[in-house]
Amino acid sequence: MSTTSFLKKASVADSPEPAVTPPPSNHETSFVKKPKLGSNSTRKRDIPEGLWTKCPKCEAMIYDKDLDDNLKVCPKCTHHFPIGSRERIHSLVETCSFEEIDADLTSLDVLKFTGVATYASKLESNAKKTGLKDAVITGIGTIGKQRVALGVMDFSFLGGSMGSVVGEKLTRLIEAGTDHGLPVIVFSTSGGARMYEGMFSLMQMAKTSAALAYHAKQKLPYISVLTNPTYAGVMASYASLGDLILAEPMALIGFAGPRVIKDTTQAELPPGFQTAEFLLDHGLIDAIVSRNEMKDRLAYYLEFLTSGQKQMAALA
Ligand SMILES: [Zn+2]
Repeated sequence: MSTTSFLKKASVADSPEPAVTPPPSNHETSFVKKPKLGSNSTRKRDIPEGLWTKCPKCEAMIYDKDLDDNLKVCPKCTHHFPIGSRERIHSLVETCSFEEIDADLTSLDVLKFTGVATYASKLESNAKKTGLKDAVITGIGTIGKQRVALGVMDFSFLGGSMGSVVGEKLTRLIEAGTDHGLPVIVFSTSGGARMYEGMFSLMQMAKTSAALAYHAKQKLPYISVLTNPTYAGVMASYASLGDLILAEPMALIGFAGPRVIKDTTQAELPPGFQTAEFLLDHGLIDAIVSRNEMKDRLAYYLEFLTSGQKQMAALA
């Protein structure tokens, strides 16, 4: 329907004067290139045109399918573009091994928050935009040979902000990991606590941290993976509590943003401040792992971290 109206409008705009050559009898022919006759014509016709993305780092034009095939990593300079939670989970777990839990948990507008837009309308528009019900997906899946409790945040839903649902889903995930003796892995990306839920958001920091403390008491591993960006209340709770803390290259990680820190301290910030590379040098994170290597590296770390547990089970 929209195509027809676009074509009609465009054809009027394109021919304000009498055409020198006869106008095409079918409107579509003036906008859709006919495939050239030849051996490659069928393949070319299958590829839609105009789906290119410019890399913000190296400025290369990348065909979207190539970007998707490479897990949204620039094939030229390895810049890591944002990736959706479902796509990320798909890249990590063994085929058909992931069982989502608490998929239907949705936020309530407890504070009846109204600003420029109401919280209820924000939730609705973000759900529509992303196809998600909140900013994290949790479930049990297999990475390599190891079953894990896996949580993956999604920045596209309200900036990956942590409200009651994110906190509750992660807490239930961690508790499921503890109950079943599984390692927990959480991929974070967040602007921080969700202001629309006020104190209810802030208490999720304590709740998730307490669940992780209980998980650690059972001598079960927790791996935190920081992706671009991970900030504020999320970084100040579960994201920084990993037994192993990994990060994607050039991810921005911190509590307050650099502008706030600069204004508060009245000091120049060092080059590379709050990047994963800077934080690796300063001991906050343990390793930087590119997205293409993440699954293999996690499988390797999981085998290492669970070997003692398996030996104990074999002796019992
Ligand atoms: Zn690039």
